[in-house]
Order: sequence, then structure tokens, then C-alpha cells
Amino acid sequence: MTIQVKATAAHPAVTTEQISETDKRHTIHPWADLATAPTTGDLVISKGEGYHVYDSDGKRYIDGIAGMWCVNIGYGNVEIAEAIAKQAQKLAYYTPFGAMTNPLSAELARVLAELTPGDLNRVQFTTSGSGAVDSAIRFVHFYFNAIGKPEKKHIISRLESYHGSSYLTASLSGKQVDRTYFHYMDDIIHHISCPNPYRREPGLSLEAYCQQLLGEFEDKINEIGADNIACFIAEPIMGSGGVLVPPTGYHKGMKALCEKYDILYILDEVVTGFGRLGHFFSAEPVWEIIPDLITCAKGITSGYQPMGAVIISDRLFDRISGDNAPEAAYFTNGYTYSGHPITCAAALKNIEIIQRDNICEHVREVGPYFIERLKTLEKYDIVGETRGNHLMACVECNISGNPVAAEDKDITAARTVDKFCDEAGLIVRPYEALLILSPPLVIDKEGIDQLVSILAQSIEQATEELK
Ligand code: PLP
Repeated sequence: MTIQVKATAAHPAVTTEQISETDKRHTIHPWADLATAPTTGDLVISKGEGYHVYDSDGKRYIDGIAGMWCVNIGYGNVEIAEAIAKQAQKLAYYTPFGAMTNPLSAELARVLAELTPGDLNRVQFTTSGSGAVDSAIRFVHFYFNAIGKPEKKHIISRLESYHGSSYLTASLSGKQVDRTYFHYMDDIIHHISCPNPYRREPGLSLEAYCQQLLGEFEDKINEIGADNIACFIAEPIMGSGGVLVPPTGYHKGMKALCEKYDILYILDEVVTGFGRLGHFFSAEPVWEIIPDLITCAKGITSGYQPMGAVIISDRLFDRISGDNAPEAAYFTNGYTYSGHPITCAAALKNIEIIQRDNICEHVREVGPYFIERLKTLEKYDIVGETRGNHLMACVECNISGNPVAAEDKDITAARTVDKFCDEAGLIVRPYEALLILSPPLVIDKEGIDQLVSILAQSIEQATEELK
């Protein structure tokens, strides 16, 4: 039997309804609401250009979320497309296992070692952010077993964090709304409070709040016993959990505690890497720390190919390799597509473009403007707070007036604003009472003005509707 392929990039000769029907029948989407998925129509995005995307009926949207925090250099980049095509013709694939490599994988590892701070010079490639975090944790366990500290297994993560969707990374993640009928690995994973200055105790200064968070971390270390703890993992700014920007000194303080207790620090830069905060990596320039491991993905190829990577300190790697390697030290972690040549070609071209077009400098220029323009939305009664750092931001709805936690009506408010944004041609990401924003880094001041004005108008319409 021959299966007829009806819709390909070359022959998109099907209607939106047909695509949606086919999709509803056969695809299980990430984070699908299984009650409504079989009946709800999809938004079919079929084209992108710069910071805009188009649906299958030709409607244009400002992409306020860069796909999913990833299309940093914007859509429709011909240079990346050509680099991918050229590499596909030259060498589509070869195994990275054992002592095999390809030229682009080696070169990308060198470039990442240069872009990351300190002695983070050892790279393992993955195909996703989940794979990068998974590999980071597997490395840490391997490391402590190899140096004779096998009891160091426990991991401290944070409530509201998001680190991926594998068994291990979903267990590390602390978003309570994501915890559904799956099973989670909870015996060695502990969640402490996340920094959420907006929801801190009323009257508590930011300095005192930071000290409270550091104190909770130290108490948790003492409770589990430092000898049992392998690592702490943190996003620099929590993304999916609500663009939670930590108070000044938080990461430095957490890192100092990790050093005090011989706990490794994994900074998960899957969202913040590759320019979103105005730097290739935010660890050193923004938070003034050099972590032991950094994970990245998304912006590494601007989403043009699926890729992730973990970059590990030489100090750790050297301790367990070469003359220091314990007996039979096979690092049996990695993937068929680690260092895939086509993916590496996309990443190298992407990094070249970010540097050549001064995209980090551009973000440092338009980022503060974005945050400042969003602040103007705080004049609306249904907006509790707007916050963020450069091109990573959110609007938090608060009509209940509850200072401690969002209520159902706050969530309804965010969903209503989202509905009007969608109608007006702006894609944002609703999450609980928030509208999350992370536009492509190539957005200019004009695009920012349009985005904020659609948000303002949608907030006004939502306010009317919610009366
Ligand atoms: N880590 C962080 C901070 C993320 O935001 C994400 C995804 O959004 C991941 C890890 C997982 O990445 P992926 O979806 O590519 O597996």
C-alpha cells in the first residue's frame, strides 16, 4: 500500500480545517488538555518572517514568545537555511559514539567553550534541553561515584522550576500545576522555595527576602546532610514558572553556599542562553557566578534545528579522566544525534549571525525599553505587576488583590487578555495569572511599541468583559 503524503512544505494544498482535523485525530501534543484536545481546533502556524508568524489562513501575528523562547534571530533566515542544506548534502550524519566525530561538532564544542565562563570547556551535545539537563545530572552522579563519594546523590531544585520533560527532568521540575497522573522520582529530589519577590511576605525588604531564601537552602542542606547532596540546579530567571527574577545577590549567595558544602551548581540557561538577557550566557555578566555546569538548548540554533548541550568544568572532567579515570570509566551517556552535523551547522551559523549582527548589543539596547514600556501597563486595575529582564518578561494579572497567591479570577483575567491579544494578532503565553513574553531578539522599538499597544488594548477589552 502506498500512503499518499498530502501536505508537505512543497505542497501545502490542504485547508486549515483539514490540517486541524488530521492533527486532532493523530497527534498528542506536549501539554495537551486531554479532555478538550480531541475537539478543540488548532492554531496552525505555517510561516515566519523576522519577528512575525502567519497562520494557515494568512493572518499575521507578532510572535511575542519566539516560538517557545527559541527563535532568537527571527524567522526566515536564509543563511541558516543554506548552511543546513549545504551540510545535508555534504554529510547528513555520522555516529558520535566512542572516538568518532565530525568537523562541525568539534568546532561547535570549541566555540561553546569560548562563550561560557571560567573553565567550562567540556561539551556534551544532546538533542533538547531535557537531554542537556538529564546529561548534566547523569554526569554529576557519575562524577561523585567515580571519585569515591557515592552517597552524594541528592539534588536540590526549586518549586516552580522547569527543567524538561524526561522522567528525571520532569521530576526535577517544581511546577505543581504540571504534576499530573505521571510518576515522579522523588526519593533523591528536593524542592525548596523559588524566588518570587512579587509574592513575598508583605513588608519584607528584598534584602531580607533574599536572606530568607538563602537560609531555607542552608537549612535544607543541613536536613539532608551535605555529604548526601550532589548538586543544586537553577534557572537564572525562572521562565515557564512565571518569569521569576531573583533578588540581587541570590545566585551569588546560593553559589557561595554550594561551595561551602561541596555541592555542584548547575545553571540551566536553556532559555537565558544565546542573547535573551543581552549576553551569550548570563552566568558571569548578569549574576556574577561561574557555575560548575551550564545547560543550554533553544537559542543555540534559534530553533532552526533541535539541539541542546551541557558544558562542564575542566576541573570536574579532569578529575575523572585520563590518568585520573577510575577502572572501566565508560561515560555511557549520549545520543545517536549528539553533535549531529546538520544541527551543528545551524548552531555555528546562528552564533556567527548573533555576533556579526551585534544581537546581544541590540538586546541590551531594546531590552530596558521593553521592560519600561511594559511598566506602563501597571496603570490598569487588572494588572498586578509587570516584570522581567531584557527580552524575558511577563504581565501578572491580579484582580483579586490577593498579595500572596493568584486566585481563579486572576487566571480568568489572564486568559481573557490572551484571547483579545490573539484576535488582534499578538501571540503571548498565558500561564496561570500571567502573560509570558519572550519575542525574537531581532524585535525593534517599533515592534515593541506595537506589542505593548496590543497588550494595552487587550487589557482594556478584558477589563470591560470581566465587569
Ligand atoms: N530547561 C529549561 C529552563 C526550559 O525552559 C526547558 C524548556 O522550556 C527545558 C529545560 C527543556 O527543554 P526541551 O523542551 O528542549 O527538552
